[in-house]
Parts: sequence; structure tokens; C-alpha cells
Amino acid sequence: MVTKESTETEVLRAEVRAFLDQNLPEKWGTPDYEPPELRSDEAITLSKSFTKKLYDAGYTGFGLPTEYGGKERPASERAVIREELGRRGTPPLSGGLGRLVVETLMQWGTDEQKKRYIPKILSGEESWIEGFSEPNAGSDLANVQTTAVRDGDEWIVNGQKCWTSSWQLGDWCFILSRTDLNAPRHRNLSFFLFDCNTPGFSRGPLRQMTGDAPFGELFFDDMRVPHENMVGEEGRGWYVAMTTLIAERGGGQVAAGSGEAGGAAQAMRAVRTIGNVDNLIELAKETKRYGKTIWEDDTFRKRIVQLAIENEAQRVYGIRLGGIIRSGKASGNEAVMTKMTRTEQGKRRGDMETEIIGAYSQLMRGDPRAPDEGSYTQSMLSSRGTTIFMGTNEICRNILSERILGLPRGN
Ligand SMILES: Cc1cc2nc3c(=O)[nH]c(=O)nc-3n(C[C@H](O)[C@H](O)[C@H](O)COP(=O)(O)OP(=O)(O)OC[C@H]3O[C@@H](n4cnc5c(N)ncnc54)[C@H](O)[C@@H]3O)c2cc1C
Repeated sequence: MVTKESTETEVLRAEVRAFLDQNLPEKWGTPDYEPPELRSDEAITLSKSFTKKLYDAGYTGFGLPTEYGGKERPASERAVIREELGRRGTPPLSGGLGRLVVETLMQWGTDEQKKRYIPKILSGEESWIEGFSEPNAGSDLANVQTTAVRDGDEWIVNGQKCWTSSWQLGDWCFILSRTDLNAPRHRNLSFFLFDCNTPGFSRGPLRQMTGDAPFGELFFDDMRVPHENMVGEEGRGWYVAMTTLIAERGGGQVAAGSGEAGGAAQAMRAVRTIGNVDNLIELAKETKRYGKTIWEDDTFRKRIVQLAIENEAQRVYGIRLGGIIRSGKASGNEAVMTKMTRTEQGKRRGDMETEIIGAYSQLMRGDPRAPDEGSYTQSMLSSRGTTIFMGTNEICRNILSERILGLPRGN
């Protein structure tokens, strides 16, 4: 059945399309468009300016109160906007992990904190990084050793964080620090926000097996943070951090329709995910082995189709999960499930791509003979990290086995 859109919907759709025509870079979406190098100044400027334009046009921040820079819009309008942004794709949005700060502040922040930070995150003006993990506090996050000692209206922070994604791009950072050396576990931590220009703060790269250094280390040497930058109560940082982690596992993996702060980004992610299977099919169709294409090989075709089915299930579940998160009824288990299944799929896709290109997968980026400029190998290697970040998939399995299946804890 074909239904006709209402006049209001048609007007909004035309408005969003006109906005994109005017504000996307020239030749965007065509083979002639040359994207700027990842993490280059040009890429950062493009992300920041496009995010600001989206914000000014009222195409982001849905569901958040207007006094914090949010935008009230009926679900039907949000859907149209996301659909149009998703259809054209958009440059990566600025803000880094700011959306996690939004979710965390909405639950634990003071009114001043919400007014100070959320609008600048939504508009992409300030980008955020996450300083949770430490050399001996990854899966066992409660074991963080970075300390913060009160001195009047300030806290003096000392210690180190590691594996910080996009370490070089953060204008601001959130950290978990030990504020009481005697209190019991989970009650001895506090959650702080700080400006990355604060004296006593420094950072540097950590190189991954891909050859890139997308994450790094953070160092605190008598760094002073104002007390007003603490989120939640002193000693309750563990509980604040749990909100951040739920948002990270859920929000970061949710497909289109989630209704959370970075709606456009979510829509894009869904489009990209579907695109990934399409690319895989294309690759299988154009690669020949023993006189026939990989796509003609039954076993391989079944594996790709299975991946496509799982992707679609993920997409639909993502839409449902978006509703659950917004209704405030998320238990956290949904997000753990999504994180785990999506990252396992990503790893399998990377494996399939490298299997298809065969021995050429040993050629890294920069080698002129590497298929698609080495991107298949690069994404296969990067996919390993996704099963580790946001809590490893082993930890996710522990959580699900205890909380959903009711299995006993191991010793
Ligand atoms: C790409 C990437 C980006 C990241 N970005 C950030 C970031 O921006 N900010 C940040 O703070 N951190 C970040 N991390 C760190 C990430 O959160 C940690 O690497 C992760 O929590 C695991 O900690 P670990 O590396 O110390 O491993 P460990 O905790 O030492 O674990 C080692 C192995 O033991 C297993 N294991 C540990 N405990 C158990 C258990 N109880 N049951 C079963 N198995 C267990 C783990 O699954 C893993 O296989 C990132 C990591 C990666 C790979």
C-alpha cells in the first residue's frame, strides 16, 4: 500500500534536503569527493563546522530539554530528519564521546553542569575523550589507582590512564579517580570532568597492530581540577561511571532510530552497516578463484547471507533499544548484548573480506598492490579492538550469564 505523506512532512523533507544541498561539501557522495585524511586538521574542521550547522538548524539534540540546547520535535519529524541525513550520509559528527557525557550529566549532573557542557557537545564545539582504563584497571575498572586529593575548592589529580581513544582530539576529558584510600571498593571513586589545557595534564600515543595510533595514554602530574567539576557525589563515581558505560555500550552500538543525542550519527551508522554487507557482496562477485567468482561458491554465499540476516536483526533491535533507552527502562543488559553481537559480527566480516582477497590481505596500507588501498586488512585488524573496548566480550558474557541466565559467579 502506498501512503501519501502529509504536507508538513513533505515540507520538512524538502527543508532537510535543501539544507544538505547547501551545507555538505562540494561533490559529497560522488566518486570525485576526496575525503580529508582521518584525524587531520581539515577533517576536524569539517566535522566541527558540519555539526554546528546541524545544531543551528535544529537537526540534533532531540529529546533533550531546550535549556540544555536540546530540541523538542515529534517522533515523526525526527524520523524524517534521520532518514534524510542517513540517505545522504554526513561527515563524521564532532564531539567525540561527548554524547556519553550528555547521558551521564542528564542523570547525575547539576543544572549548572548541564547548561555549561551539553550545548557545546551538541553543537560540536567541544570534543570529549574517556579516561577510565589504566594499566591495571581495564576489565577490573574498580581497581583504578589514579588519585584525587582535596585541597580547598580543588582536587589534585595524580596518575595515568591508557587506551584512550582519539586521545589527541579531546578538548575535555572525563575520568574516574580514587578519592578515598580507605573506603570499600566501589565506594572510593569519584567522577571528574576537566579541560585538556589544564596544567599538569599531558598525553601521548600508543601504537596499535594496524600501525596507527588512534588511542593513547594520559598523564596527571599534580593536575588541579575545580570541585565544581565533580559529577555526582564524592565516593559515588562508580555508579556515575556505570551510567556512562551503559550509554557507551548501548548508544555507541545502537542503529538508526535510537532517539538519543547524536541521532544523525546513529542513522549514518545504520546505513554504513548495511553498506558493509553490500560491499562484501560486491567484493565476492568481483573476485575470482579457480575459474568462478567467490559469490558462486555456495558455502561462502551462505556465510555472507547469514551476516546480512544478523545485521538486519541488529538494525531492528537497535530501533527497539533506542525506545527502551529513552523510556528510562534500560537495564544495561540490552546494551551489553548489542555491543557483543555487533562486534563479533564486525570481526567475522573482517575475516571474510580478508579470506576473499586471500594472500593480498598480507599487504598493508601504502603498498600499491594492496586491494582497496589496504582497507580490508586494516578493518580486519581494527575489528579485534572492538571486541575489547567498552568491556571485553568475555566480560559481556559474564554479565549476561549472571544477570539474564542466572548462572552462578565464578571464583
Ligand atoms: C580500540 C580500543 C579503544 C579503547 N578506548 C578506550 C577509551 O577511550 N577509554 C578507556 O578508558 N579505555 C579504552 N579502552 C580500554 C578498554 O576498555 C580495555 O582494554 C578493556 O576494558 C580491557 O582491559 P585490559 O586491556 O586491561 O585487559 P584485561 O582486563 O587485563 O583483560 C585481559 C583478558 O582477560 C580477560 N578477562 C579479564 N577479566 C576476566 C573475567 N573476570 N572473566 C573472563 N575473562 C576475563 C579479558 O576478557 C581479556 O581477554 C580501549 C580499548 C581498545 C582495544
